[in-house]
Order: sequence, then structure tokens, then C-alpha cells
Amino acid sequence: MSVPYTRPKCKFIFVTGGVVSSLGKGIASASIGCLLESMGLRVTNQKFDPYINVDPGTMSPFQHGEVYVTEDGAETDLDLGHYERYTSAQGSRLNNVTTGQIYHDVIQKERRGEYLGKTVQVVPHITDEIKGRIYKLAAQGYDVVITEIGGTVGDIEAQSFLEAVRQVPFDVGRDNTLYVHLTLVPVIRAAGEIKTKPTQHSVKELREIGITPDILLCRTEKSFDDEITRKIALFCNVDPDCVFQAIDVDEIYRIPLIFHEQGLDAVLVRKLKINAPHRANLDGWKALIERISVRRECVDIGFVGKYINLQDAYKSVYEALRHAGFVNDVKVNIHRIEAEDVGEATLDRQLEQMDGILIPGGFGARGIEGKIAAAEFARSAKIPYLGICLGMQVAVIELARNLCGFAGAHSSEFEPDTPYPVIDLMEAQKSVKMMGGTMRLGGYDCTIKPGTRAEKAYGAPLIRERHRHRYEVNNRYLPQLAEKGVVVSGMNEATGLVEMIELKDHPWFVGCQFHPEFKSKPLAPHPLFTQFVAAAKSRMSMRGRTDGAPAAGGAAEKN
Ligand code: GLN
Repeated sequence: MSVPYTRPKCKFIFVTGGVVSSLGKGIASASIGCLLESMGLRVTNQKFDPYINVDPGTMSPFQHGEVYVTEDGAETDLDLGHYERYTSAQGSRLNNVTTGQIYHDVIQKERRGEYLGKTVQVVPHITDEIKGRIYKLAAQGYDVVITEIGGTVGDIEAQSFLEAVRQVPFDVGRDNTLYVHLTLVPVIRAAGEIKTKPTQHSVKELREIGITPDILLCRTEKSFDDEITRKIALFCNVDPDCVFQAIDVDEIYRIPLIFHEQGLDAVLVRKLKINAPHRANLDGWKALIERISVRRECVDIGFVGKYINLQDAYKSVYEALRHAGFVNDVKVNIHRIEAEDVGEATLDRQLEQMDGILIPGGFGARGIEGKIAAAEFARSAKIPYLGICLGMQVAVIELARNLCGFAGAHSSEFEPDTPYPVIDLMEAQKSVKMMGGTMRLGGYDCTIKPGTRAEKAYGAPLIRERHRHRYEVNNRYLPQLAEKGVVVSGMNEATGLVEMIELKDHPWFVGCQFHPEFKSKPLAPHPLFTQFVAAAKSRMSMRGRTDGAPAAGGAAEKN
């Protein structure tokens, strides 16, 4: 049984991974999107995640990296962040599909009697449901849908997804389908040799399930010669000009250019028989790489969070800081500081050395007093401060306690009996019992107050940003906060909810209830991050330390 498919103009690329995880499949998929878009094609990137959770929204950061929020309020995999950063396409809930969603929907249909008495099975019912998700996206008018299958070929849990994508050519035609496989070509140090066997095995595994890759992207530490290319091509049954090298790089935004230099864009359109409007134009990316290749001054940003040892927990925030560094012609050294460790000694020794302090979003009481102390320190020591979501909430708590004199002020998330619930649950949230997908999620309008830092950053009276939280600033305390110089610089008119706050008497102190990091791109850095890093750069110049040496206290992450 095949799924009816009515838009044959769309082309389909499937990206699988082999040998080991963490080869950079997300960035490779995003780079393919970037190349195709640079030829004038309309693309969208989709991610299949084979776990049974409906979405990553309920997963611990220890299990899963950042939860990326789309404009339409879906809580999704962080690869969707890469897709948005490398292309202009905006993701939606259609762009991230999990096993949990597929089974949930199939079971709902079964309960409604839609299978007309049939036995409901993995093939064809689960696989049809999966293919339906691909075609639904295609029906939105894209030229190419690029679908990345999470995990590694051979994983038990990814089998139904791989089987579904194996069937796609039978629905849409082989000419409209392309299989790209990302694999590892390791160097065995002791022998000094480049090894192709893991790639051969990985491709063999793919072919056993009926998928013959058209293009191989070989992740490798050092580039290999034509002989290796020909060997891989022969043993893996692909054209030699379809073997590409994904060489380790120090700058991830170089990757589309590396593939372009090897002619990947030309092969993609040739194989898919696409008449692209024009040849790849990557001028913007080239200019970016040129701009950041020169030696840049360093600003030190103290990043006070809870999951600072995890590479991916704050992915988009780290990237947004780097983007802001690009336009400000500085290198942003992110000093990751564990919130639980913030106390008197840290404040003096480590935070004092910083050019800016950022507190990202977060949940749960662990480390909360450290975050509040860090916000207070940024205010009193006049260090540029950007508070995102929980980072704004801790700033409001600090201001209420120390400027307004509200002893014991808190968020009712952490202290339900606080005498001053300056951060509180919205009425609509009080009856919520289900955890998944029930926060205030996705894009909301924000009206910007004239004459504020927010207005200077955005240069627009009305903006829109993405949310992921349950708690809000309690408007009951706004008059007292205003008396002490706290300005509400962004407001959602429809709900009366506070979106942004800032301080008058401070070089740059801004908090936002939303997550600006989700909309920052390397070629279009986010204005709040840009202004924050600009303020940090001013502090750095005033302090006269422009030598690129990291500030004392805490290992700097070279970003
Ligand atoms: N825990 C806070 C809330 O739910 C903040 C959430 C966040 O920072 N994303 O409102």
C-alpha cells in the first residue's frame, strides 16, 4: 500500500548516519539546505527522532541537549536550530517527528476505527504515517525536503523510519529521491593510516535494508587522496564524484563552503535533476568567514547556568553569543560558571573579571540563589547583563528584594509561600496538570517602549519572539519596581504580560521573558545579543584589556 502523493515537483533528500553518533549529521543536513537555498531553491529540513517521547520537552538536559522552540510553539530537537541558522526556512511542528508522535497518532486512528477492522502493523501503518509526515511538509510548496534520520544505521529503534524512507521512491519516483550517508573515515594513529572499512560496513548495513546511498559524506580528521576516494566509491557502490570529505573544522559555519568547494551543490542538483534558478551564491558566508578569520579582541562573558558541563544544553545561546561577536568584531570567550557555586568568593574573583554576565533560561530550584546573587552583582558592579527567561526572573527577584526591600521576594515556582510572589503563575497555568507541551510556547508579539535600550536594539515598535515558560512577572509589583528605576521596555498588549525589563541607571541591564537565542543566525545576529556584546566590548575597552588573554578565574571556552 502506498501513500497518495500529489506533488511530484518536490524532491526528497534523506540523510542517514553511520559508524558512530555525533558526526555532525545535523550540521551536514543544514549545510545541504544552505547550498540548495543558495541556488534559489525553496528548502525545508526535517528531523526524525526515533525515541518514544512525544517531544524532547519533558526530557532532562542530561538526556537531551537544548530544547529548540519553533515559532508555532513546538518543543523540538536542537538540530532544528542548526537548520534555521544555516537557511532562511522557519521550522514548525511538522519539521520534527518522533516515534512517540507516530505511534500516538496511529493508535488514535485505530481507536477511531479508521483502519476499518484491519490488523494495525508497523508495515504499512507506521511506515505510512511516517511517510505522511514527509509528504505533508512537501505539500507546503517546497522544492526540496531534506529529512535527517536521527541515530545511527543499525539502531533497532530507527528501523521503521529507515523502512519508510526506503519506500519513498516507490511513491515519488527514484529520480526525485536522494540518499546521503554521513560516515566516519578514521585515521589510525599508530599506523598513520586512513581506514575505509567502517564506512564499507556502514554502507553494507544500509544496503541490507534496501537503501543504496547516492552520496557519501566522509567525516575525517585529515583529508585523503583520490585513491582512497576511488576505493570508498568502489566498495560502497557510489560514483567517485559522489564521495565528499567532511573534514574537521574549527568553525562550523565554514562547512557549507567546504562542501561547495568540492562541488556538492552541483552533484545534488544533477542527481535530483533539478533546474536550479542559479548557481550557488555563497557570498554572504564567504564574507563572514573572511571577517572572522582575522585576529579579534576577546570579550569575557560569565555564563551562569546549571548544565555548564554539557556541550549542548545551551546550544542556541552559545551560538547567538558567537554571532554577536562576529558583528562586533570580537571573539566571545564564554566562561561557564556553575550557578550552585556562585557565592561571595566567586563574585569577587570570577564575575568581577567579566565584561558581561548572562543568565540563561532554566527550571528548578537548584542554583537559584547563585543566579540571584550573580544578577545582583551585575547590577551593583555595573557589568552588562542579559537575563533570558529565568535569567530575567532572577533579576526581578533581586530587584524586588534589594531595591524595593521586599524581604523574601521570590518566584512561586521555587517558594510557593513567599510573601512577595514577584514571579507567579498565570491564571491559565494554574489548572494545568499535564507536563508535556503545556507551557507558554512559541511566538508572541511584544510592543517596545520608545526611548529604551530595547528600542535601540530592535529599532521597531513591535517585535515577535519565542517563549517557553510557565511563570510570569507579577504585575502587582510593577509600580514599586518602576519607582526604583525598573523600566518595562517590552509588553505583550493582548495579555498585559511583561516581556522585557531594563534598568535606567546602568550601562546595559536587560531581561527578556522570551528566548531571543532561537532567532539568531550567523548572517543575521540577534539585536539583543549584538547590543549586549557591544556593551561588553565597551567595558573591555574601558578596562584596557584587549590582548585576547582570558580573564583570570575559570577556564575560558574558545568560541
Ligand atoms: N522556570 C521558569 C518558568 O517556567 C523559566 C523557564 C525558562 O527559563 N525557560 O517560567
